Amino acid sequence: MSLANGRSYVAIPGPSVMPDRVLRAMHRASPNIYEGELHRTSASIADDLRKVAGTTQNVAIYISNGHGAWEAANSNLFSRGDKALSLATGRFGEGWANHARALGIEVDMIDFGKKGPVDMDRLARALEADKDHAYKVVLVTHVDTATSVTNDIAAVRATLDAVGHPALLAVDTIASLGCQEYRMDAWGVDLTVGASQKGLMTPPGLGFVWFSDRARAACEGADLRTPYWDWTVRADPQEFYQYFGGTAPTHHLFALREALDMIAEEGLPAIWKRHEVLASAVWAAFDAWGEGVPEIGLNIAEPAHRARSVTAARLGAPHATALRDWTEREAGVTLGIGLGMAPPGDPAYHGFLRVAHMGHVNAHMTLGALAVMEAGLDALGIPHTPGGVQAAARTVAAG
Ligand SMILES: *Cc1c(COP(=O)(O)O)cnc(C)c1O
Repeated sequence: MSLANGRSYVAIPGPSVMPDRVLRAMHRASPNIYEGELHRTSASIADDLRKVAGTTQNVAIYISNGHGAWEAANSNLFSRGDKALSLATGRFGEGWANHARALGIEVDMIDFGKKGPVDMDRLARALEADKDHAYKVVLVTHVDTATSVTNDIAAVRATLDAVGHPALLAVDTIASLGCQEYRMDAWGVDLTVGASQKGLMTPPGLGFVWFSDRARAACEGADLRTPYWDWTVRADPQEFYQYFGGTAPTHHLFALREALDMIAEEGLPAIWKRHEVLASAVWAAFDAWGEGVPEIGLNIAEPAHRARSVTAARLGAPHATALRDWTEREAGVTLGIGLGMAPPGDPAYHGFLRVAHMGHVNAHMTLGALAVMEAGLDALGIPHTPGGVQAAARTVAAG
């Protein structure tokens, strides 16, 4: 017998749960793409995307996933042979840097490891050593989804300013936007990369690049820019098709319009707070399970450095894989794999997992996932200290 029948819950860091409202918004006939509603909808989406990212500047929309948004950013920022500095705090920081290298950009990477955020002293030393200001851009992830670390973006900007380095600041917010505080303009960010399928609650398939007027001017002659990725016309279209470099992603736009309405109705501060409380509940559960059990623990020790959208943790191999299998098979809850913590062929790989709490999630979903996990820990005889669910419930009760 399995207890999995009923509504399944995918607690992985994207694609995240799609709200029924978003699904319903897509359930309609193909629209007229030459005039009317779709044109108004697209303009309103661009306006609301700016609000979500905390900017009044430029936004370009792509039919792509997050990797495509990386490519959009790279091809507009750089010319062949340009130099960039990548601040890596996990798999996604490395991924963006490798994409840039493959395009012919010379990327120096500072690896801050998998257990914590960018260290500003180390960053300052690297910037000071770049006496000729060869680094055109600093690349950093806000939340690295693999390690579930949050980087302090305002502090990265302050470090650039303190050493007088003119590099542009480019930030990947794919796993944080619509989940935790992000303020592109206030934090001095020049380029923000986003995607539809995480905090923005829309199916995978839309990538976003917001860019500052400063980045637009500094990158005017970028010779990696190709017609499809060129942000110039997309951000300032004279003809409707130019928004998307061709046919509009019609149903994704209906979905995103609805999701942005939901975000506006709840309000960003309330959304950030909801994610904060749900994240804290997940942390409390792992802290309780790991009491006196050193194999169990959160990947990021310092709460201030943890993502509010996803939590990476260890259970000891092979328990994490066994638990993920159990929760899906027996209880209808799909948990995230550990990513980049150990190679897939390594037995240690089976010791890591991630729990996502991003986008359309509420207390019953997160508490339900944690309760199912505790049931699985019991059913599988995985060593742990009971009381994780109670600790999580107390955290929710305290708000
Ligand atoms: C998910 C994610 C990506 C990759 O997005 P895809 O849509 O899978 O291409 C990149 N960066 C971060 C921080 C992510 O969380």
